[in-house]
Amino acid sequence: MIKIAFFSAKDYDKEVFDKYNQQYKFNITYFSCKLNSETAPLANGYDVVCIFVNDMIDEKTIKILKKCKVKLIALRCAGFNNVDIKHMDEHIKVVRVPEYSPYSVAEHAVALLLTVDRKIYKAYQRTKKYNFTLNGLLGFDIHGKTVGVIGTGKIGKCFIKIMNGFGANVIAYDIFEDKEAEKTLNFEYVTLDDIYEKSDVISLHCPLTEENEKMINYDTMSKMKDGVYIINTSRGKLIDTDSLIERLEEGKIGGLCLDVYEEESEIFSNDLSNSYIRDKDLLTLLSMPNVVITSHQAFFTKEALNKIASDTFKNIQDVILTGKCKNEVK
Ligand code: NAD
Repeated sequence: MIKIAFFSAKDYDKEVFDKYNQQYKFNITYFSCKLNSETAPLANGYDVVCIFVNDMIDEKTIKILKKCKVKLIALRCAGFNNVDIKHMDEHIKVVRVPEYSPYSVAEHAVALLLTVDRKIYKAYQRTKKYNFTLNGLLGFDIHGKTVGVIGTGKIGKCFIKIMNGFGANVIAYDIFEDKEAEKTLNFEYVTLDDIYEKSDVISLHCPLTEENEKMINYDTMSKMKDGVYIINTSRGKLIDTDSLIERLEEGKIGGLCLDVYEEESEIFSNDLSNSYIRDKDLLTLLSMPNVVITSHQAFFTKEALNKIASDTFKNIQDVILTGKCKNEVK
């Protein structure tokens, strides 16, 4: 029987993966800890490790997994920036779930935008305390604004469709332009500088790569409009946090919507409500009135979780039975 070591397991993972496992009957052990070089020995005797966005598969971890005779790393997410692919070889394969619900992430990006723009987080707290005043809650219409989208893949295109519905003027940048989408959806490809210079709202929907790490930095933010809103539901390291804080303090950035954070791995998905948070940058961001942060929650819908579980098991079965899988990362 195939043995799976399932890292970073949460109760909601167990519920949905156990449901789908009734069909596959894999032997799963759930570990709540993250997979990294310290915890990798736990994988000894398992065929597969199943991991999520903040497990860290660096060169050292890969060496240990190989010693443990692990044959497959099954990512239960789309992004694979946390796996050092160049140190993989024929002994160990990597699979991922490239698409589970682009709607979940695109809709969350919009939820964040509206929350910050229309000050819903403030209004909610106010009315709960029977304060029904409007001072300080003034927002702006998204209709008629220029929205810049970086990355026009599955999630970027969903986000564009929603922005089309709002009546925004959408411009986009991608290293591979989807000319068909440009014809059928209502947007125009422009240069990255155009995105920075013309957008009232910028939303990041590209993967994190070595080339685009910290693409949003002090210099690129200089090119942006005063008061620009930035949404990041992609990966934290696309933005240089130090410069971001400086630019927020200067008032250059008018609103910030984050579902991901540069240093999220030890913080997000943990309950630290009774702990001392040592990350001063995160504390600064959380203290700012025009910043809303969610903790890598954008994917978290019923539809996405079900698809993640079913596709992860299918990927594992494909590799085990045939040695091949269309979702292999090479
Ligand atoms: P996708 O592969 O369908 O699309 C990514 C697009 O980005 C592609 O069109 C690609 O050409 C483009 N791209 C690559 N490098 C680029 C660059 N340097 N500049 C501009 N464009 C670039 O991926 P997707 O499903 O749309 O997901 C996008 C990202 O969203 C993922 O990589 C992941 O980081 C993030 N994500 C976050 C969550 C969450 O819960 N917050 C969930 C899923 C995915």
